[in-house]
Amino acid sequence: MFEHLNTLPQDPILGLMKSFREDSRTDKVDLGVGVYRDEAGHTPIMAAVQSAQQRLLETEATKAYIGPAGAEGFNHLISQLILGAGHPALNDQRVNTVQTPGGCGALRMAAEFLRLCKPDATVWVSTPTWANHIPLLGGAGLTIREYPYLDTATLSVDFDAMMAALELADAGDVVLLHGCCHNPSGADLSPDQWTAVTDLIERKGLLPFIDIAYQGLGEGLDQDAHGVRLMAERLPEVIVASSCSKNFGLYRERTGALMLIAANAQQGRAATSQLLSAIRSHYSMPPAHGAAVVELILDTPALTQAWHHELDAMCRRIIELRSAFSEALAPAGDFSFIERQRGMFSFLGINPQQVKILRDEFGIYMLDSSRINIAGLSANTLSRVAHALQEVLGR
Ligand code: PMP
Repeated sequence: MFEHLNTLPQDPILGLMKSFREDSRTDKVDLGVGVYRDEAGHTPIMAAVQSAQQRLLETEATKAYIGPAGAEGFNHLISQLILGAGHPALNDQRVNTVQTPGGCGALRMAAEFLRLCKPDATVWVSTPTWANHIPLLGGAGLTIREYPYLDTATLSVDFDAMMAALELADAGDVVLLHGCCHNPSGADLSPDQWTAVTDLIERKGLLPFIDIAYQGLGEGLDQDAHGVRLMAERLPEVIVASSCSKNFGLYRERTGALMLIAANAQQGRAATSQLLSAIRSHYSMPPAHGAAVVELILDTPALTQAWHHELDAMCRRIIELRSAFSEALAPAGDFSFIERQRGMFSFLGINPQQVKILRDEFGIYMLDSSRINIAGLSANTLSRVAHALQEVLGR
C-alpha cells in the first residue's frame, strides 16, 4: 500500500530550524520560528501558567472525558476575553464557543462547519497570509480566493486594492481576516479601516471569519480585539478562531477556541449542534490541560493580574524592539514600517538571495520571504543584524 508514496519535501520552517540547530557559530540568530522569545532567547513558561499548573496538579480529581465542546468554564471566559465582558452579542445569547486543539483546530473545524453550511463556500484570504491557512481551509474542501492585502513596495496595507477585490465577492462568501498582528506582514487594519470593511461585508452579505492568534501581543488585549468586537456588534454572523498558544505561551498544549456568533440564540444552537457533530467525527474532543490552565488563570483574580502583567511586558518588549530595530536600520534605508507594524512578524522586504547571504555569511536565519520574528531579536543582537543587513543591501 505504501510503495507508491513519494517523500514530500520538508516544511521550509522545519528545514530552517534544523539548519539553525546544526550551525556551530555561537553568534547565530534565529528570526525564523514563530514563537515568542525573551531577551535571553528563551520561550518561557509564563509565571501564571506555572502557578495554575501547580494548583491543577494538587486539585485535579479526574481525567474522565470532557466532551466535544471542551470545558464550559473555559469557553465562557475566553469568549469574555475576546469580546469583552458585557458585549451585546454575549448579552443577547448570540455567542457559542467551543474549545479546540489550538488555533489550527479552530480554523479547521470552522472550515468543516462552513462546508456543512454551504458545500461550495468560497473563502477569501489575504495575499499574503499565514502559510497554513490555505491547507487548513482548502483541505476541508473550501474554495480559496485571494484579496490583495500588502503593498509590497511600502509593506503597508493596500487598502484600496483589498476593498476593490472584496467588491467582487458574492453574497455568502466568507472573508478571512487577521484580528490583529497580521502574520506574516505585521500590517494591521486601522479602526477606520475595520469600520469600512464591516460596512462592505454588511452591504454585500458576506461572512467574516476572524483569526485572532496574537491577542495581547500587538497593543493590548482590548485594542487588539477591536475588529472582532466591532463586527460581532454590527453583523448578524461572525466566526472567530482564537489561539492561546502565544498569549498564554501554551503552544504544545494545543489550546484554542472557535466562536460562532449567530443572528439569534436559536440559530446559534442549531449551528453549534452541527459544529459539535463535525468535531465528534474529527477528533471527538479537545485535550484538557491547556484550557484548564487558562480557565484557572482567568477565573482567579490574582492569576489574571499576574498574567496581564507578564503579557503586557511581552507586548512592550516587542514594541520597543520594533522601534529600536527600525532606528538601527535607518542608515540602511527607510525601515520605519517596522516600528508602525504590530505583533511578532514583519517582512524585511529583501530578496531570497539576500536572505541566503544573511544566513550563510552572518548566521542570521529568517524565512525566504524575509519574514522575521521580531521577538527573536534582543538588545545584544539587534545592532549586529542591522549592520549585516546594511552590508548586504550595500553590495
Ligand atoms: N493563526 C495564525 C495567524 C497563526 O500565526 C497561528 C500560529 N502560528 C495560528 C493561527 C495557530 O496557532 P496554534 O494552532 O498553534 O494555536
